[in-house]
Formats: sequence, C-alpha cells, structure tokens
Amino acid sequence: MLRDAVRSLAEAKIAPYAAAVDEEARFPREALDALVANDLHAVHVPEEFGGAGADALATVIVIEEVARVCASSSLIPAVNKLGSLPVILSGSEALKKKYMTPLAKGEAMFSYCLSEPDAGSDAAGMKTKAVRDGDHYVLNGVKRWITNAGESEYYTVMAVTDPTKRSKGISAFVVEKSDEGVSFGAPEKKLGIKGSPTREVYLDNVRIPADRMIGEEGTGFATAMKTLDHTRITIAAQALGIAQGALDYAKGYVQERKQFGKPIADFQGIQFMLADMAMKIEAARQLTYAAAAKSERGDSDLTFQGAAAKCFASDVAMEVTTDAVQLLGGYGYTRDYPVERMMRDAKITQIYEGTNQVQRIVMARNLP
Ligand SMILES: Cc1cc2nc3c(=O)[nH]c(=O)nc-3n(C[C@H](O)[C@H](O)[C@H](O)COP(=O)(O)OP(=O)(O)OC[C@H]3O[C@@H](n4cnc5c(N)ncnc54)[C@H](O)[C@@H]3O)c2cc1C
Repeated sequence: MLRDAVRSLAEAKIAPYAAAVDEEARFPREALDALVANDLHAVHVPEEFGGAGADALATVIVIEEVARVCASSSLIPAVNKLGSLPVILSGSEALKKKYMTPLAKGEAMFSYCLSEPDAGSDAAGMKTKAVRDGDHYVLNGVKRWITNAGESEYYTVMAVTDPTKRSKGISAFVVEKSDEGVSFGAPEKKLGIKGSPTREVYLDNVRIPADRMIGEEGTGFATAMKTLDHTRITIAAQALGIAQGALDYAKGYVQERKQFGKPIADFQGIQFMLADMAMKIEAARQLTYAAAAKSERGDSDLTFQGAAAKCFASDVAMEVTTDAVQLLGGYGYTRDYPVERMMRDAKITQIYEGTNQVQRIVMARNLP
C-alpha cells in the first residue's frame, strides 16, 4: 500500500518536473511541497515527535519510489534521515524534541556535515575545530559537498574537540543556518543529481550553546559512523529506484521501437539484456530490504550488510542505467529521453556515503 501510494504521488507530482530540475539544476521545490503535504519528507521521525514513525524498510521504499522518477528529489527524505539520525541515535531528549518536531512538520530540513576539502574517505582527518568557551563552543572550519546546504535549517556538524585523539577527539553538534558565522559556497556544478544542491558550509567563529553537542564530547565520530551503517541502506534504495526507473522506461521503449520490420523487443539479444537488468535489480532489492530489516532490529551484522547493499545496488544502478541507454540506441544518448539523466544520477551512488572502495574496506573488516 505504501509503495502504491508513493508511486502514484511520485508519478503525478514529482516526475513531471524531473527533467526541468536536472536541466535547470534547480532545487525540486515541487517535490518538497508534495512530500511535505503527504508526510513523506522525513518518514523516519518517531511518532513521539510528531513524525510518521516509519521503520527502516518503509523509509527505504519511500526513497526507492521517489528515486524511480527523480533521484534529486529522493535526497529530500534520504538526507533528512542522514542529517537527523545522529540526534535520534545519540542526542539528549531535549535536543531530539527541539529538532525532530520542526523536521517532522516539514518546517525544516536537516543536512549532514562530515566531509571536508581534505578529508573525504579519511573523514577522521578533518580539521574543523570546536573549542569550548564557558557554556558555549566556538566552531571554525569548512565542510565540503554538503547535500541540501542552504536549503536546510539544521546541520549536524562533526568537529575536532581534542586534536591529540584523532577519531576519539571528534564531537558532533547541531548548527543552525541562522547561527551567526554560518555561510555557504556556490552550488557545485555536477554530472548528475543536479537538482540536489551541493555546497560548502563555512563556519566562521560560530558560537553555539554547549547543549547543542550530540552525545558526549569525543563520541561524534562513532555517532557519525553508526549513522552511516543505517543510512547507506537509503543510498542502496536510491540506487535501486534509479535502476528500476531506467528498466521500466526501456521496457516500454523496446516494445514501441521497430527495426527490421518488428519491435526490437522481439530480438533475443534485447530480451536477454532486459532479463539481466531485472535479475540484478531484484538481487539488489533483496539485499537492500534484508539490510533495512537488520537496521530496524539493530542486528550485529548490520555494518557488513549495509555496506554490501550500498555497494551492490549502486554498481547495479550504474550497469542497468548504462544498458538502458544502450537499449534506446542514439535516442538514449539525448536529453529528450530520461535514461541518460538516470545514468548520470546513478554514478553518485557509487561515490557518496563512502565510495565503493571504502564499502569494500568496511566489508572486509566485518566479514560475516
Ligand atoms: C554530490 C555529492 C554529495 C555529497 N553529500 C555529502 C554530504 O551531504 N555530507 C558529507 O559529509 N559528504 C558528502 N559528500 C562527500 C562524499 O561522501 C565524499 O566525496 C566521498 O566520501 C569521497 O571522498 P573524496 O571525494 O574526498 O574522495 P577521496 O577520499 O579523495 O577518494 C578518491 C579516490 O580514492 C579512493 N580511495 C581513497 N582511500 C582509499 C583506500 N584506503 N583504499 C582504496 N581506495 C581509496 C576512493 O575510493 C576514490 O576512488 C558528497 C559528495 C558528493 C559528490
């Protein structure tokens, strides 16, 4: 029922703008409005804070169905979870109440600030600092590649509080867009997900109350990694949705397109490609849903399974979208058809929330 509801909404209210959002590299405002109106913008927020209280599998299905028509728009529910999960996992009750309530209402979005210009895969090498000053912390530094930066009201920021302790000297904070000293860089000019703004976040002597720290001092990196265990599955879901969207489009196209006097769908070479695409998508779906169930239960093998799902589903998305372009021939290579956008959008799923090389490091360290 949830899938049907999200699919109808996505097809009616999000799909019609997907090409324009990509072409004009603009934020998918129509998608945000439609998701908020239907309480699908941050479904993971628990009911006690006014949220929909969706479990990890339901959240995955929402993201998958939105990504099927517009990958950029799927980053609204996905990054709202990524940004706010550190607070849900490790924040005080007061912090949860303060920040989850407006998120649930759709009044504010949340972003996640881990990466920096010189700290990507090696995120613990970050330089952003938070220095205690009485009842406050003062933050200085640059966060890079921040999804929905400028659009979000709230930012979970990881910063160094004790430079002698590397990852154990990192703490997490909630920073607000309106805090003095917060500003944003120009939107990055990207290959895909062009509707999702990616900008630098500058922290210039940002003075925030000490109770905006998420959990204890020195636990921020652990919280950031624990968050990724759960949210990598949402990237797997995004990849899955992009791949399904490409397959669905190609499936329709090959029945219409005629060469050699018949629909190209009649050629076994085409049928075998479609069969492989569908097989890979289904394998990715099973891995992703199983990982979502592990996320919900908090199973001990979640770290392996989340990394495996993200890595596998994103590789599948890249393969399937590339094949979809192939199935449309020259038409597939043009912006008159959606599959080239899907191919460009798929690429990011192999890179963010840890590249697929990093996922393999994570899997190797956590072999079942
Ligand atoms: C569009 C977009 C949105 C993003 N959104 C966010 C966000 O909202 N919040 C956030 O914090 N970050 C975000 N990121 C950052 C993203 O997570 C990083 O780009 C990613 O983790 C890789 O870091 P890097 O770009 O510095 O690459 P690098 O770490 O420099 O990696 C370069 C290459 O080296 C490889 N590599 C690095 N180390 C190893 C190793 N030990 N073994 C083998 N190979 C290795 C990598 O896999 C990669 O192929 C976003 C990035 C993009 C592009």
